[in-house]
Amino acid sequence: MSSTSTAKPRFDWTQAEVKALFDLPFMDLMFRAQTIHRENFAPNQVQVSTLLSIKTGACPEDCKYCPQSGHYNTELEKEKLMEVEKVLAEAALAKEKGASRFCMGAAWKHPSEKDFPYVLEMIKGVKSLGLESCVTLGTLNDEQAKRLSDVGLDYYNHNLDTSAEFYDSIITTRTYQDRLDTLSRVRGSGIKLCCGGIMGMGEEQKDRVGLLRQLSHMQPHPESVPINMLVKVEGTPMENVEDLDTFEFIRTIAVARILMPKSHVRLSAGRQEMNEQTQALCFMAGANSIFYGEKLLTTGNPEADKDMALFANLGIQPEQREAHSDEAVAEAIAAQAVKQEESKLFYEASV
Ligand code: SF4
Repeated sequence: MSSTSTAKPRFDWTQAEVKALFDLPFMDLMFRAQTIHRENFAPNQVQVSTLLSIKTGACPEDCKYCPQSGHYNTELEKEKLMEVEKVLAEAALAKEKGASRFCMGAAWKHPSEKDFPYVLEMIKGVKSLGLESCVTLGTLNDEQAKRLSDVGLDYYNHNLDTSAEFYDSIITTRTYQDRLDTLSRVRGSGIKLCCGGIMGMGEEQKDRVGLLRQLSHMQPHPESVPINMLVKVEGTPMENVEDLDTFEFIRTIAVARILMPKSHVRLSAGRQEMNEQTQALCFMAGANSIFYGEKLLTTGNPEADKDMALFANLGIQPEQREAHSDEAVAEAIAAQAVKQEESKLFYEASV
């Protein structure tokens, strides 16, 4: 990966400056984002993470977009905390398929003292497989952040979701400040941050501007910035919310890239609903991380083979943490490219 840019990241973007980026002609915005992307990253590499739900459903929080909230009836099957061995078996499988980071999500308001030691074991196990570790467990206190840091957790995911102004329309069981407090505890304990938001929840552009501005004011910027497109799930209050224009979503990615030039911008939830051309434009706008695998917490994710076929088609390589695993992934991509060539007609028909 190259890191040749001499331009220093800024932490003082104003709302008007961010809005002006959104207002650029689409091609100008894309060109600017892609130029900044190339100054900071290998242009044809995308980081691949796998996400596993280690504790599903019955969450006491009321996030209006989430099928795991206990406040809504989404007929989601609830599960207790997974056994450590099962989680590690999934992590080994993810590594085999080319993931460099393994993310574990638990539907909790905050982790309980009873469950926490098991999560620490999971993190240690994932790291011993040579994978980067990431967890999302809800609100943390100082001691929990320190214990996660002590076992070597690489990333903590804690999204701000939207602007401070729109937040109360989405969640009432916690505040924006609660989120900022956990984020600063995590940062203070030396763990890297994964923090982003969800687009298409009925927010206005000023809320997308506000979210990105807020993220860009964090010093340093979150290392990983997931930009999600709402997945509308039946039974949640957002099942019928109006679709966000796809170009506006791509613009959001491009602006995130410009504001946070050295962060991995992750094209995250909602990717399954996007065609390959939209995904390609998201990569062009500076997205350089995806979730890969069959499930994204509780909503579907494009099948792994389809992702590899898209990577092969676009000449993208998965970014690798360890050099020695490059070979296996390169082989997988090459095999996929051959398969794709052989069945081109069928492949194109299925897009
Ligand atoms: S998004 Fe997380 S905190 Fe909110 S309801 Fe879903 S699982 Fe709970």
